Amino acid sequence: MRDTFDSVQSAIRAACELEGIPQRPLSSRMTDRTLGLGSNWEEQAGRAGMIWRALQPLNGMPISILVARSAPRQTRCSCRRACCSGRQPHPYWIEAIDALAESALTAKLGIKRYDERKLILLSIFGERATFSEMAKLLQMDPQTVAEHYRKIAAWIGIRAANGNESQAWREAEQLLMQAGILVKQMETA
Ligand SMILES: [Zn+2]
Repeated sequence: MRDTFDSVQSAIRAACELEGIPQRPLSSRMTDRTLGLGSNWEEQAGRAGMIWRALQPLNGMPISILVARSAPRQTRCSCRRACCSGRQPHPYWIEAIDALAESALTAKLGIKRYDERKLILLSIFGERATFSEMAKLLQMDPQTVAEHYRKIAAWIGIRAANGNESQAWREAEQLLMQAGILVKQMETA
């Protein structure tokens, strides 16, 4: 892992990727040189820890949005079951989606079903699905799903200059710059 990053997204992604190789004992990670986790693994884990600590003030909805945008969506699965595709949702990514699905309830958006909120958030954060596909899975009316999608998208603040999402990016940028982790390229006039 690098010492510094030029974007919030690349810093968070690197931190997620390092810690996102789950379900393996540390001893096996540390000898796995093919993954680049050799003797410098501890040093890299330390850098990932620095990134998370710097972002601590964004705990809650802001960090969930940033991780849902930045973490890899999938990771390898080594369960070796016949039915397994060899891929599984990345734990950091899916945790962020679950946390947002929970927060959306307290935001009083009037969307009672957890599975509906989660499906909409999955779609917002990259697992694209049409309203009719989601409606079919949920056994709901597509119009209602579309209406709820718009509510959740507005709450996240997609493409809104002062929404929750853009605010989270701005704050993360400041925090990572203060910590010396984010180094912005000087803009040429
Ligand atoms: Zn598996």
